[in-house]
Amino acid sequence: MRKKSAGTLGILRGRNAKLNVNLNRFWSKVNILDDESCWDWVGATNAAGYGAVRINRRTLSAHRVAFYVTHGKWPEPMCLHSCDNVACCNPAHLSEGTHADNMQHKRERSRSARHVGKLNGRSKLTQEEVESLRMMYDSGQWTQVQLANKFRICQSQVSEIVRRVSWV
Ligand SMILES: [Zn+2]
Repeated sequence: MRKKSAGTLGILRGRNAKLNVNLNRFWSKVNILDDESCWDWVGATNAAGYGAVRINRRTLSAHRVAFYVTHGKWPEPMCLHSCDNVACCNPAHLSEGTHADNMQHKRERSRSARHVGKLNGRSKLTQEEVESLRMMYDSGQWTQVQLANKFRICQSQVSEIVRRVSWV
């Protein structure tokens, strides 16, 4: 039998079939940072903002694949984000759970977000703050989490700012 190349993928049967993922190719589309930060998918996304990855002519959710390649099993029934960042593929932010778990977590997070928002006056940064945040990040001395704490915004916002996606 001919040896399969690293890029050869198994036949997928059903949504949760066994899958051979080309790990180098998969992780090359993830912005891998420190353990605490969100690792954003930098490849194609679907309309809802989830990473979309084509494997063996099927489009799969990148975060589900990230969970799969980390744990060797598909998340059942759902793959939940503890960070609420749908593009995030950091396995430390992914867990399996039910739709009810997801709704419960969202309620808990929105309560704490409101609390933080009140303290922060909804965490808008001035242009000067955005520029100094980017300079600090580019210096390599600060992680996104440290910057999020310093500027009192979410780490996902820091990620967007340093990637020049937006400034809050
Ligand atoms: Zn995350």
